[in-house]
Amino acid sequence: WCVPCLVSLDTLQELCRKEKLTCKSIGITKRNLNNYEVEYLCDYKVVKDMEYYLVKWKGWPNSTNTWEPLQNLKCPLLLQQFLNDKHNYLSQVKKGKAIIPKDNNKTLKPAIARYIVKKAKQRIALQKWQDELNRRKNHKGMIFVENTVDLEGPPTDFYYINEYKPAPGISLVNEVTFGCSCTDCFFEKCCPTEAGVVLAYNKNQQIKIPPGTPIYECNSRCQCGPDCPNRIVQKGTQYSLCIFRTSNGCGWGVKTLVKIKRMSFVMEYVGEVITSEEAERRGQLYDNKGITYLFDLDYESDEFTVDAARYGNVSHFVNHSCDPNLQVFNVFIDNLDTRLPRIALFSTRTIYAGEELTFDYQMKGSGDTSSDSVDHSPARKRVRTVCRCGAVTCRGYLN
Ligand SMILES: [Zn+2]
Ligand SMILES: [Zn+2]
Ligand SMILES: [Zn+2]
Ligand SMILES: [Zn+2]
Repeated sequence: WCVPCLVSLDTLQELCRKEKLTCKSIGITKRNLNNYEVEYLCDYKVVKDMEYYLVKWKGWPNSTNTWEPLQNLKCPLLLQQFLNDKHNYLSQVKKGKAIIPKDNNKTLKPAIARYIVKKAKQRIALQKWQDELNRRKNHKGMIFVENTVDLEGPPTDFYYINEYKPAPGISLVNEVTFGCSCTDCFFEKCCPTEAGVVLAYNKNQQIKIPPGTPIYECNSRCQCGPDCPNRIVQKGTQYSLCIFRTSNGCGWGVKTLVKIKRMSFVMEYVGEVITSEEAERRGQLYDNKGITYLFDLDYESDEFTVDAARYGNVSHFVNHSCDPNLQVFNVFIDNLDTRLPRIALFSTRTIYAGEELTFDYQMKGSGDTSSDSVDHSPARKRVRTVCRCGAVTCRGYLN
């Protein structure tokens, strides 16, 4: 029998220390049973011209917090964070034109201390989430998480996946694939030719085909090695990206931390693969935000939809723009079933470090820019979400 424990490791460690118990499997040994490491600082006061900070000890419950004189603290970073958070809180209050009660400089207002503790806890939670994302991802680029805007923590109902998660009854490997035997896939009649299209990439790994044209990459049956110029999407995201809290009310967004050349592969759009009937059903249940995660695979049929609401990768957090810097392409690699293309996002221009990544939710799928090729489902047309992308060409609504 095995019963999963719902309590966090931190809580278990705190309990152990409180009860003076050692337990190797949760990292509490005789050696470190009485270790004290500052987790964060909670409060500040001055007594007889001495400065004190209230310390939350890592792995210890709040009841063991202690006031420590400033000169005892060996945590310059945490101290700096405390002062920054205090400063930010005060400047926010100022912006709100509220009257700040006169600080006597001897103690902190309880509201400030509460904010600082919330901020410290949020920082720890986001760091944990960032570690988890990087443990789960199987591509080269790192994932960072940043919120300097509000107190929002990690999403509670989101699970990171690297590839499509097919719903029961949907098979993503139901076709025997053709494999090429080129000595040089760039010059020879390779997998794309076999599928009746041209090679999608130039020698610099940039996409050179127009939107709406499918990509056929080399696959597991091909004789070529991993350096084949026709293996790009399958290698996954190469860039370090950051999931960050936007300051314009768009929730989380994604920015690149490095320069991305134009026409380069940035990320795949993954999620649960469901039937369009199921998508219709979910569309009725979802709110405006949930609906935007539904992505119709309408390359050649409209049988399937990708739902990235609960299961997804970084693309889950990429915001919509009416003037986007990413463009959608349909990709076939080990599954040649034209009803089930993979969705890859490529840069449409040079994107500089720090810029937010966006794609046009309305141009999902076929790349048909002319009309309402996306929205077959009446459920999605009924609710309209106001667009805040800020582009000159903004259409005003997300759907
Ligand atoms: Zn080849
Ligand atoms: Zn090939
Ligand atoms: Zn190849
Ligand atoms: Zn817009």
